[in-house]
Amino acid sequence: MTIRTRVAPSPTGDPHVGTAYMALFSLCFARQAKGQFVLRIEDTDAARSTPESEQSILDSLRWLGLDWDEGPDKPGPYGPYRQSERLNIYKSHVDELLDKGHAFHCFCTQERLSEMRATQMQNKETTRYDGLCISLSKEAVDEKLAAGEEHVVRMKVPNDGTCVVKDGLRGEVPIEFSQVDMQVLLKSDGNPTYHLAVVVVDHLMEITHIIRGEEWINSAPKHMLLYDYFGWDMPELIHMPLLRNPDKSKLSKRKNPTSIRFYQRMGFLPEAVLNYLGMLGWSMPDGEEKFSLPAMIEQFDVSRISLGAPVFDVDKLKWLNGRWLREDLDDDGFADRISEWAYNRENLKKIIPLIKERVDIFSEVSDMIAFFAAGLPDITETDLEIKNQSADETKKILQFALWDLEAVTLWQKEPLQALFEQLAENLDLKIRDVLAPMFIVLSGKPVSPPLFDSMVIIGPDMTRARIKHGIDVLGGVSKKQNKKLEKEYQTLRRSRA
Ligand code: GLU
Repeated sequence: MTIRTRVAPSPTGDPHVGTAYMALFSLCFARQAKGQFVLRIEDTDAARSTPESEQSILDSLRWLGLDWDEGPDKPGPYGPYRQSERLNIYKSHVDELLDKGHAFHCFCTQERLSEMRATQMQNKETTRYDGLCISLSKEAVDEKLAAGEEHVVRMKVPNDGTCVVKDGLRGEVPIEFSQVDMQVLLKSDGNPTYHLAVVVVDHLMEITHIIRGEEWINSAPKHMLLYDYFGWDMPELIHMPLLRNPDKSKLSKRKNPTSIRFYQRMGFLPEAVLNYLGMLGWSMPDGEEKFSLPAMIEQFDVSRISLGAPVFDVDKLKWLNGRWLREDLDDDGFADRISEWAYNRENLKKIIPLIKERVDIFSEVSDMIAFFAAGLPDITETDLEIKNQSADETKKILQFALWDLEAVTLWQKEPLQALFEQLAENLDLKIRDVLAPMFIVLSGKPVSPPLFDSMVIIGPDMTRARIKHGIDVLGGVSKKQNKKLEKEYQTLRRSRA
């Protein structure tokens, strides 16, 4: 049997370090067994998926050196490798389940489902579809379908009994069926949900081992039932422990930069980032912390994956990166890599038009452009004192800008400018008042080369990381403040719509 693994990111945002973590372990597992590693784009959520996000996932994984054997850009015998391009195959699979009596049409309205959930919550029961539509007669269903009544298709799940999930790291994990929802398989628009799509496509792609985050373990019973209903062999499951913030909560961008592009911008070496991700979940037999991808592949052994909660600690990553810089790059290598990173002709050519008018001699250049290649600027609360603005107002401007920027998919000058003009209008401020703190958090100074052009060059992840840093310098946003700000932000958004 050829071992086949896959990573299946949803292209709904920044390329997340968690995706790289799953990709790394899936790749090591497959390569060690001389098998294949597949990249599949899980874009079943059409409303949230974007081509820009897909592209940056591909770019970031490739930057890290995680190369796949088959993927959306690498046609293979099991394509297409984008879920959205296979939407036509699911209907027949659902029909098969309906015919065999493993699935049913559900005509319940949103109102009924909300009421049902509210009652279940009140009674402290698991929120779970109560099975009402299972009892509809075939005639009743046909009649409703003929009348064009809106419906979904759900899978049947036993009301009692235990499902024993076999996990490559945890052994047998018993989960009561009464805790498992009768999952929607086909949405009312006729498209599959993740749960149906992932099972069907993993099977069609002959995936033998599924390595994914432990947040999916509770979904395993649904998937196991589906494999069983279809009469297919179940791939082996390996649920990796989730990456965590230093406070042990699930790694989140509110507390830690989570985008791979941020680490690229900061000037981390891809081999160090990979090494760090490897080290978070796994250890070399000799205990050495610094190891390369080929060494990890050679030595890879699932039994050395640790089940502890791995904390993503940027300081530790920095320490490891320092070792890679010093131990693996001679001066020539260092020079090559630093120019590959930022000090290259292509980058300079983007920056020069922004500063040419402002300098007379070269020695003025480096100070002016340093912020393009810097990390988080060294600023204090005093630097962020803006005329006629309280610190809370400044913080609000930064936070609202950050939320607005998180939704930007087209990172170009014009949309950025329009976004800030709109924000100023919404806040009833002059644009220069909104931009004043931006200059400081982005460049470290009250003046800088043109702001929107600079943001384009700095890139979305670093721009947002610097704004977030500015908010932190002002004392951060407490949970309570966040609630208040979010409310105000939503009101503004609604009035804008
Ligand atoms: N799109 C899911 C995720 O990114 C895939 C989970 C899986 O590997 O099945 O978490």
